[in-house]
Amino acid sequence: MISLVDGYLGRIMLDCQAHLTGAVADYIPELAAVDPGGFGLSMCVHDGHVYSHGDSAAAFTIQSISKPLTYALALGRRGFATIDAAIGVEPSGEAFNEISVDQRRRPKNPMINAGAILAASMLLPQEPTVSSDTVDAAFADVVEFYSACAGRRLGLDERVYASESATGARNRAIAYMLVSFGALQTDPDAAIDLYFRQCSLQVTTDDLAVIGCTIANGGVNPRTGRRVLDQAVAQRVLSVMTTCGMYDGAGDWVTRVGLPAKSGVGGGILAILPGQLGIGVYSPLLDEHGNSVRGVDTCRHLSTDLGLHMFNVARESRTTIRAVYDLGDIEVSPEWVDRERVFLKTCRDRVRVYELQGDLTFAGAESAVRRLEADVDRFDVAILEISRVDIVDPVARNMVLGFKHVLDEGGRRSLVVDPDGVVRASIDRYRDDGPATDMGIPYGVGRLDPALPHVHSSMSEAVLDAEEFLVKSRLIEPGPA
Ligand code: GLU
Repeated sequence: MISLVDGYLGRIMLDCQAHLTGAVADYIPELAAVDPGGFGLSMCVHDGHVYSHGDSAAAFTIQSISKPLTYALALGRRGFATIDAAIGVEPSGEAFNEISVDQRRRPKNPMINAGAILAASMLLPQEPTVSSDTVDAAFADVVEFYSACAGRRLGLDERVYASESATGARNRAIAYMLVSFGALQTDPDAAIDLYFRQCSLQVTTDDLAVIGCTIANGGVNPRTGRRVLDQAVAQRVLSVMTTCGMYDGAGDWVTRVGLPAKSGVGGGILAILPGQLGIGVYSPLLDEHGNSVRGVDTCRHLSTDLGLHMFNVARESRTTIRAVYDLGDIEVSPEWVDRERVFLKTCRDRVRVYELQGDLTFAGAESAVRRLEADVDRFDVAILEISRVDIVDPVARNMVLGFKHVLDEGGRRSLVVDPDGVVRASIDRYRDDGPATDMGIPYGVGRLDPALPHVHSSMSEAVLDAEEFLVKSRLIEPGPA
């Protein structure tokens, strides 16, 4: 059975697949040589589960997506006061390699090259000459930190690094200019070397998704359980990614996508929904700002189709599965006699009840649906009990409906117990307004019929419905015991 969320992500990729405009970065030959058709998408959710699509294992250089990470490391090592005295947090509205500084001659923010080079310089001893061994040690620290965020060891693309070093006149000029302003207080060549190396680390979209989820989680890697950055640092990084992450397109990005993000000229985009998930996208064809064309498009779709805009999340709560049980302790409904009653006693374990609580948005519905998908061989009927759910957003509602289609196709049944009418209210709105998105129509199923879900107002009604289903489908020809 294909997972529902995988179905959604695959579909979003299909929708964006055709947008083959833009050009690969060609300021160094190594970047120009990549396959322009490469396209990968990964999403890491709060418990570390990663959904991977397309070229999600293809390695590319992290480039400017390294900037928030080195900034985080510098904040952790040197403290907020020191870093804030050196690097501002205001959007520049200018291109990434613009030589922009504020009135105090500080780089305007850590997401443009001037600020990023300065952040890297803060990881070195603040002395006029720094040995190459010392740069090696600082780089080892950078690799260690990025790898801890990604949950696996990252490696350097030696050829990209050599090429960046050989051609990086503008970045060198920025570093020397910062020295002349008194802003950069270490060896500029060492700082620039460290910066070129960090940009040349190789990642996949799976890595970006895990890195994003680590920041979304307030600094704890969801796969390793290790705290790799402070909560306050994670919050700061998310803030500057929101206001300065997408270069000169930041305002448009926040408005239309609403996910803190950072792109790199290697074709990657890291996007984060705070408190919930991390996203990595890769497609090397870039727009005039240096952002991946399909990456931006994919993020727009993710935001709209899955309701991921950060200001869309009404409350920072997550739906959890409160309890899971079968009908073993629940009496057979009094309506049944004789043969059916005997039969129904033998298959109480084929009906599983999932009690949900909290608000049902994409993230909550995702974890509930994934649990159901993992359990699917263990039941013929799944009952979702949602009396403790307060809000069901349109995406989550469509996911519940979509899951019903998946079960129907497998000859199973899904029922909802909704005493307060939360889902019913939402279905009534659907009837009036039409679907908010088309995401509830997976796998070629036609327009959703709002009457489709079997919604009951009490558990006893749902149990009777489940029993009728079992009797109809299995009395004559019993299925798996
Ligand atoms: N290495 C590139 C530079 O600093 C990174 C640029 C980017 O990804 O935006 O010029």
